[in-house]
Amino acid sequence: MPITEVNITSFCAECGAEIETVTVKKDNMMLFTDDQAWCPECQVDRPQVRDVAGRLESIESEQGSYPKAVPAEPFPGQADGR
Ligand SMILES: [Zn+2]
Repeated sequence: MPITEVNITSFCAECGAEIETVTVKKDNMMLFTDDQAWCPECQVDRPQVRDVAGRLESIESEQGSYPKAVPAEPFPGQADGR
């Protein structure tokens, strides 16, 4: 059986804090979403950015350390955080 699941990590689009990592079917993978997610750092619902935490080839060795995902730059003009 081919591996058909991938790990998706969500990050806060404002501060870059990791929100959650979920395992989804590759067919259902959505890296882009309009849904907001609760950020434990901001203490508020934030837009989220997603990245693939475990590439297909590396899932079997996921017991090792994950590569550090680098969130995208915060959106310019939305940095006051108040
Ligand atoms: Zn945040």
